[in-house]
Amino acid sequence: MLALGIESTAHTYGCSVINSRKKGLKQILSNERDTYTTKKGGIIPMEAAEHHEAVKEKVLQAALKKAKVNLEDIQLIAFSQAPGLPPSLRVGTEHAKKLAKQLKVPLVGVNHCIAHLEIGKLASGAKDPVFLFISGANTQVISYAAKRYRIFGETLDMGLGNFIDSFARSVGIGFPGGPKISELAEKSNKFIELPYSVKGMDVAFSGMLTNLKQKYQGKKYKLADLAFSLQEHAFAMVIEVAERAMAYLKKKELIAIGGVAANKRFRKMADIMCRERKGKFYVPPREFVTDNAAMIAYTGALMYRADKKYALNAKTADFKPYQRTDEVDVRWVGKTNL
Ligand code: AMP
Ligand code: MG
Repeated sequence: MLALGIESTAHTYGCSVINSRKKGLKQILSNERDTYTTKKGGIIPMEAAEHHEAVKEKVLQAALKKAKVNLEDIQLIAFSQAPGLPPSLRVGTEHAKKLAKQLKVPLVGVNHCIAHLEIGKLASGAKDPVFLFISGANTQVISYAAKRYRIFGETLDMGLGNFIDSFARSVGIGFPGGPKISELAEKSNKFIELPYSVKGMDVAFSGMLTNLKQKYQGKKYKLADLAFSLQEHAFAMVIEVAERAMAYLKKKELIAIGGVAANKRFRKMADIMCRERKGKFYVPPREFVTDNAAMIAYTGALMYRADKKYALNAKTADFKPYQRTDEVDVRWVGKTNL
């Protein structure tokens, strides 16, 4: 089946064509995108939507051309239905509805976060992994159990990336702070004890952030040593809860997604933990970790092939800005270890 995916939850407008008859990543025939950027400060939702409106046709044509298919060959339209910024979501939703009506093909709404998980499985070949989602705003331990992707643990205050960026900002390092903190940490191996906050399956970073800022302002510690110690503590915290999820759920695979998963030291620590448990650790290629439409096309096709009832009415379908990962009824994943 040839499926077209449309991504538009936030800053990226993406279109992708997949051929679900092919195996693994070979089924992705194209994965085009155009991303709204700002010179200073964060995303302005209305401007992002204007950007998407302006580039949507161009991105669609690029995806069709790269895949060497005609629009008329498309048999399914999948779009990012949730969660995200309403003005951005609206552009992709309307585009997808229009195409589904025009081509008279099924329309499937995909949860963007779940699509990140599914493409992670496809890219790694993992069957039933635990996911550690460590981006700027998010820190969650997720796994499939009993018909849902369930959140087994999460941050109680800020995301791991935002925590690192906040400390970086407070010492005069620009955004994003993660890569620079990582460089500094490589210059040190002096372990300074910091608040380590794991509560059951959840983590919290604000205590460590305050302590780090105080230590830096007190001028008794070198920045490289603080960067090193920050990484050792923060990564150990999230790896501890990921390991506990693997143990409880009897799962042997771990997939890390989100910007912080790029960190070398994090990867080393996660790899050691998995190997000690005779498990496997995996980080998907960057192309699928950042927002992309291939994951939407792929997940939409998975859903529709498993259950035709996932198809929406192309006249009335709507986006869902606040849908959570564990609200989606997952009828396409075959088996669970529970
Ligand atoms: P995302 O929200 O998934 O786009 O990821 C962005 C976050 O990843 C930011 O907070 C970055 O500081 C962080 N990040 C990117 N590269 C690294 C790195 N090498 N080490 C730690 N954090 C990183
Ligand atoms: Mg995303």
